[in-house]
Amino acid sequence: MHFDIDKIRNYFPVLRLEIYNKPLVYLDNAASTQKPLQVLMAYEKIHNDYYGNIHRAAHYMADRATSDFEAVRKKAGNFINASSEKEIIFTKGTTESINLVASSFGEQFIRPGDEIIVTEMEHHSNIVPWQLLTIRKGAKIIKLPISDIGELQTGLIPELINAKTKLIAVTHVSNVLGTINPVKQIIETAHARGVPVFVDGAQAVQHLPVDVQDLDADFYAFSAHKMYGPNGVGVLYGKEKWLEQMPPYQGGGEMISEVTFEKTTFSEIPFKFEAGTPNITGVISFGAAIDLLTEIGLANIAEWENSLLLYATEMLKSIKGLNIYGESGKKSGVISFNIKEIHPYDLGMLLDKSGIALRSGHHCADPLMKYYNIPGTVRVSFGLYNTREEIDRLMAALARAVEMLK
Ligand code: PLP
Repeated sequence: MHFDIDKIRNYFPVLRLEIYNKPLVYLDNAASTQKPLQVLMAYEKIHNDYYGNIHRAAHYMADRATSDFEAVRKKAGNFINASSEKEIIFTKGTTESINLVASSFGEQFIRPGDEIIVTEMEHHSNIVPWQLLTIRKGAKIIKLPISDIGELQTGLIPELINAKTKLIAVTHVSNVLGTINPVKQIIETAHARGVPVFVDGAQAVQHLPVDVQDLDADFYAFSAHKMYGPNGVGVLYGKEKWLEQMPPYQGGGEMISEVTFEKTTFSEIPFKFEAGTPNITGVISFGAAIDLLTEIGLANIAEWENSLLLYATEMLKSIKGLNIYGESGKKSGVISFNIKEIHPYDLGMLLDKSGIALRSGHHCADPLMKYYNIPGTVRVSFGLYNTREEIDRLMAALARAVEMLK
């Protein structure tokens, strides 16, 4: 594999920062990633060269902004191998993508007594919108449980599905456990029983190649800010056959065909779901992040990050009293752990003072914390720019912190 880590790190000047007089070691990539020069430059260029509102005016600035914005829709579609860019809706993030489906698909297809299967390892973003929907509609959430090593008990799916089941919501990769779920197999099982599947791809698209046609996903959501793009931009992929049947999510400009006080007709998909002025500059600079990921190659990124995962897991396991949550054989670059008798917040705070940026807390996954009966974990999450040297720094800082806290 040719993976030029020095070249990659040079794209991210922020990685040269020192905090508290220590070199920054950024290991909170599951929360949000740093931004490369390509994205920063694209953002500046739009403002300097051709900023205007899109899809509206017939002048150079607006035309150029519109064509660049729409080019990113095509790019995002190709990135996950959607069959058409009509299936790509821009949102402000995964959370909004999920709320869009819960609201619109829910309005059209969920009736009192219906059931939605949601897994025990979901981020709150992939629980709460479904819960609000079930409350509104008199429907019910059914939990798909996990096992102790942090894998979904997929064998239970055929038993959980019945005539009332209208949707399965599942994360592709867990933001706490790192588990890569067998979504293709889950979708196959669900489709054989006529149930569509919503996949939360927030922790997947930046780490492994995703092909929504191969998965046969009905919906797939992700956030630009977790994949080296700007914040405030997300994608919802939806199969045309669903999007065509779903009512608009929000009303406003751009999503209409004709408005009278008596009646409004709506735009074609995807515009029907994009009311108002979108995040024009965000979407266009997101294109530069997709280009970078494509240029480096997701298979190469997966291999690099997996080598970091294996190295760090082995090192961490050598610490006495350290317990790792999530020990599936199929993991992405996330390690959650606790050390006996040390609170994760204390550890996180001390590590921060050593220049190590990582996350300690419940990671917006309370049901998972309840399953393990813990208040939270310390979480290390890798990005494509992390190195073994940084893991060594983490280990040295961890040893010092444990010494102080014991
Ligand atoms: N789903 C998962 C698995 C996540 O990890 C996150 C964020 O951490 C989200 C959804 C929510 O993403 P956003 O805050 O970008 O909407």
